[in-house]
Amino acid sequence: AIEVKNLHKSFGNLHVLQGVSMTVGEGEVVSVIGPSGSGKSTLARCICRLEDINDGEIYLYGQRVDNGKHSNKEVATLVGMIFQQFNLFPHLSVLDNITLCPIQAKGMKKKEAEDLAIRLLERVGLGDKVYAKPSQLSGGQQQRVAIARALAMQPKIMLFDEPTSALDPELVGEVLEVIAQLAETGMTMVIITHEMLFAKDVSDRIIFMADGNIVEQGSPQDIMVKPAHPRTQAFLQRML
Ligand code: ATP
Ligand code: MG
Repeated sequence: AIEVKNLHKSFGNLHVLQGVSMTVGEGEVVSVIGPSGSGKSTLARCICRLEDINDGEIYLYGQRVDNGKHSNKEVATLVGMIFQQFNLFPHLSVLDNITLCPIQAKGMKKKEAEDLAIRLLERVGLGDKVYAKPSQLSGGQQQRVAIARALAMQPKIMLFDEPTSALDPELVGEVLEVIAQLAETGMTMVIITHEMLFAKDVSDRIIFMADGNIVEQGSPQDIMVKPAHPRTQAFLQRML
């Protein structure tokens, strides 16, 4: 579903991604872990076309998306991205936050978009918050709305970049639970996270990145329990 080949990305003189190659299969859940500054967010942002790349190729469902031939709108229907900051529109209700993009970018009928939004809100446990404003919700609830909003575009892939890092500890669980449920539906997912135990539970595969490279990858068991590379070992020792 995702194929990244020899991806290079620099910011000025800073060579952030130094030839990253990875694939994510249909329905696969892959977590990306690694130290701060290793290039995890940059990789995710390149995949969903928020960043131009310097070299390499990115394919989503067989379509090459890095050569500027696809509009961001087209890519947005393939990939939904969830950030640490939820970025809901503060002046819009939860319902309008979710229906805005399907109506404006996909031309969905208002009624259809609202029915979908309500179904998605029920799925993330917020069926009673349809008409609330984001400011009336907890951080965990806002992040669940953000997930519903991304799902409303009916993407084939979901990318999560530290979706729980901005949350109070007691709100982390409810968001992880929604992500785990989504994983069980067979959604293709990439999850960047510092929640090691969650990554171990939810992932089919874990990728460890350091200094702009993939250092090693494997099953959660391989990476978490018997990592081969000293850098992975050192990282996990600090994290667990
Ligand atoms: P963290 O775990 O802290 O989120 P990360 O692995 O996501 O880290 P990135 O955000 O991808 O790391 O950043 C990798 C490197 O690229 C860092 O050195 C960062 O300062 C740099 N960087 C990221 N975005 C930009 C940008 N827009 N302009 C310049 N440098 C950037
Ligand atoms: Mg990051």
